[in-house]
This record gives sequence, structure tokens and C-alpha cells, in this order.
Amino acid sequence: MSRFDIVVVGAGPAGLSFASSLAGSGLKVALVERQPRAALVDPVDDGREIALTHRSQRLMRELGLWQRLAEDEIATLSDALVLDGGDADGLRFRHEDSGQPQLGWLVPNRAIRRVAFEAMEAAGEATLIDGVRVIGVHTDADGAEVRLDNGECLQADLIVAADSRFSETRRAVGIPATMRDFGKTMLVCRVRHAREHAQTAWEWFDYGQTLALLPLHDAHTSSVVLTLPHQEALTVQAMDAETFGADMSRRFQQRLGAMTFIGPCCAYPLVGVYPQRFVSERFATIGDAAVGMHPVTAHGFNFGLLGQDALARAIREAHGAGRPFWSRSLLERYERGHRHATRPLYLATQLVAGLYTDDSVPAKFVRRTALRVAQRIGPFRRMVMAGLTDDGRRGPPPLRKFVDRLRPMPR
Ligand SMILES: Cc1cc2nc3c(=O)[nH]c(=O)nc-3n(C[C@H](O)[C@H](O)[C@H](O)COP(=O)(O)OP(=O)(O)OC[C@H]3O[C@@H](n4cnc5c(N)ncnc54)[C@H](O)[C@@H]3O)c2cc1C
Repeated sequence: MSRFDIVVVGAGPAGLSFASSLAGSGLKVALVERQPRAALVDPVDDGREIALTHRSQRLMRELGLWQRLAEDEIATLSDALVLDGGDADGLRFRHEDSGQPQLGWLVPNRAIRRVAFEAMEAAGEATLIDGVRVIGVHTDADGAEVRLDNGECLQADLIVAADSRFSETRRAVGIPATMRDFGKTMLVCRVRHAREHAQTAWEWFDYGQTLALLPLHDAHTSSVVLTLPHQEALTVQAMDAETFGADMSRRFQQRLGAMTFIGPCCAYPLVGVYPQRFVSERFATIGDAAVGMHPVTAHGFNFGLLGQDALARAIREAHGAGRPFWSRSLLERYERGHRHATRPLYLATQLVAGLYTDDSVPAKFVRRTALRVAQRIGPFRRMVMAGLTDDGRRGPPPLRKFVDRLRPMPR
């Protein structure tokens, strides 16, 4: 039986970043991943483009991830436009109003996975146990144990679950989670278009479909994100390249001219997940295992980076001071902080995703009114933009400060 200080379950972007955050701490860390190493070195293209905030970019720099990205893997996000139904103007977020040269960046998830793995390997400290699945965990006051499907058993002081929103280890320790299945499927696919995207992202809550356009490095290339009822999504996914391009041009009303398929076209069923607790005895969740966001507000990995950073800092500090890094009080402090940082936007996202896919007459009225009110309130727009462009060095972003004032929470 092998022994580690910490066993991380899942070498996705959150688990890998967490292992890198602990480099130099002197802790013996193992990462267990069911995929083989080759799939981490060269991850498959899952079509996802991840919108990153200024704070995430800073954290990725500190971890040595950002520097490993190729220039054409980073797209600048200057402006964002939110449209509802047939509304032509919409709500516009301009980078000039934020005082920053850009609102954020877009990076393919495949590239994030690759650089997260490279950085973890370059640090040369964590042990990767790949090609094996965790099939059982046990924790008590004396320690933790992880059972693998190859018959091996690992002992540790702490287990950190980074094994996706449907985390089996979270379930194994008995943490219940609230799940909301939106009954819709999101398709993502790269396309070329005749007109330039002007580095503007679109979120268009149309009737019967939600469309988004994420500008990529090349001015004529974007990622289309299409949310549809499941069966309809499967039909679109099965289209040949030519039909798909024509269908997208039509759905986007030729606003960027003719579109052609680049691919791949990947489908994601939309399920939001929020566990009742992030921690239990000698156990903590990070990444999607802690907060499984609906992608519409583009915050899953941004929260993943934030959470792993908070937990790693607390662990490093305790270990450096000779205190137990698995203590209940430390884990509960992490839980309070991360809940505080994520819960308001998680709930707001659920609300937006539910409302803006409801095409009933009253919902259409509320949708239109909400957007018009937001359009007119300058401080609201500035607050949303500050949430994207704040790098986290000056305390909580304005959106959180605002929520804090509405509903004080215990620290
Ligand atoms: C369409 C789409 C668009 C998105 N856009 C954005 C965006 O714009 N901005 C943003 O911030 N976020 C976005 N996200 C969210 C982001 O992709 C996720 O938050 C992030 O990838 C989650 O990383 P993770 O490491 O927590 O989990 P995962 O990437 O799910 O990794 C989990 C890992 O655990 C492994 N694993 C699971 N079970 C076991 C087991 N039993 N044993 C061993 N290994 C196991 C898996 O193989 C996997 O490698 C988007 C998501 C989707 C679906």
C-alpha cells in the first residue's frame, strides 16, 4: 500500500492546477486519473472555448500555465453583446468602460488541459497514477484511503476530489448535491465567417434557441454555441458540414455573413450541480466537483481556479506552520470562502438560464424588461465588467461586495 500526504482524484484542469499550486510545499501528492497519460499530454479537442477573467489569467500566470500557451491559442475578448429575441440593440459591455484593454480572453479547453499537465510535470513533484479509476474512498479521524480498480489501495491524510460535476468520490463520502437538469443540450463548434467578429462575444437569447458566438484568435473564426432541446441538438450535430454551415448562417441571420464548418461539433447536456457541502472529514472538493456551473455565464473553470488556489494556500500555510492541513477547521474555512465566492453567481446563472429559455408570454416580458433595465443602469454594467476585469488583488470584486451588502454571510 502506497502512502501520500494528499491524493487528488482527477487530473482535469482543476486537479492539475491544484497539484501545481502545492509544488514546493514539501507535501507528497498523488494524482489519480482514469485516462492514460497520453491523453493528458495531447488532450482531445472537446470544442470548448473557455472564457477567462483577469483574475484567472493572473492565477494561470502564477502557475506557469499561461506562458505555455501558443499565441494563436489565446483570443482577446474586447466587448460582449447580449440580445433577447428580435431585439436589435441589446445590452453591450465595452472594454473601454472597464478601463482595461480587454474584458477577458478565450482559450480552448484542450490547450488549458495540455498546459496544466505540462506545468504539473515541469514542477516534477506530484506522482501521476494514470489509467486507473478510483472505485472507493474511506475517511475517518485517523486518515483516508483510496481504492483503485487495479486492486491497489492508497493511504493519505487528505483526499481532494477533482473528478467532475458528477464526482463519484463526493458521492462515496455521502455528500448530497442539488442538481438541475435544464433538459437542453449545448452544441459547440468552430466556424469560419465572412465578416470579422471584432473580438465581440454574443449571447443571443432567441426564442426556441440560445445562440452564442465566441471570437477566436483569427478575425474570421469563432466558436458557435447553440442551446437546443436535446433531440433537435442531435439532429444539428448529425448534419454534414455544408448543411451545418448553411444552418448556422441562417440561425445567426447572416449577421457575420456566410458561415462554414470547421468543427468538431460536440454536445453537452446541461446540468447544474451544487453540493450541500464542499468538504467532510479529511475530504475536500474542487473544480466542477465543488461547483458545476451552467456554462452560460462562463464561470466553471474560473471558479475552479479560484477554489483550488484558496485550498492550496490554506494547506500550504498550515503545513508550513506545522499544523494539520487536513483539520476540520481549515476545511470548513475553505468551504465558507468558496461558497461565499460562488453561490450568488451560481444562483443567478440558474435564474438567467431558466428565464431566458422560457418562451412563454410572461417570461418574454420579464426577459425584455430585465435587459432594458440593465441597459439603462450604468453602474450595473460597470459592476459586471469589474467582475471580469478585476484581478483579485484588491479584495472581492464589486459584484461580490454588492451581494455582501444585500445578504451578510458569516465568515
Ligand atoms: C460547453 C462548455 C463551455 C464552457 N465554457 C466555460 C467558460 O467559458 N469559462 C469557464 O470558466 N468555464 C467554462 N466551462 C466549464 C469548464 O470547462 C469546467 O469547469 C472545467 O473543465 C472543469 O474542470 P475539472 O478539472 O473540475 O473537471 P473535469 O474537466 O471534468 O475533469 C475531471 C477529471 O477527473 C477524471 N475522473 C473522473 N472520475 C474519476 C475516477 N473515478 N477516477 C479517476 N479519475 C476520474 C476525469 O477523467 C477527468 O480527467 C464550460 C463547460 C462546458 C461544458
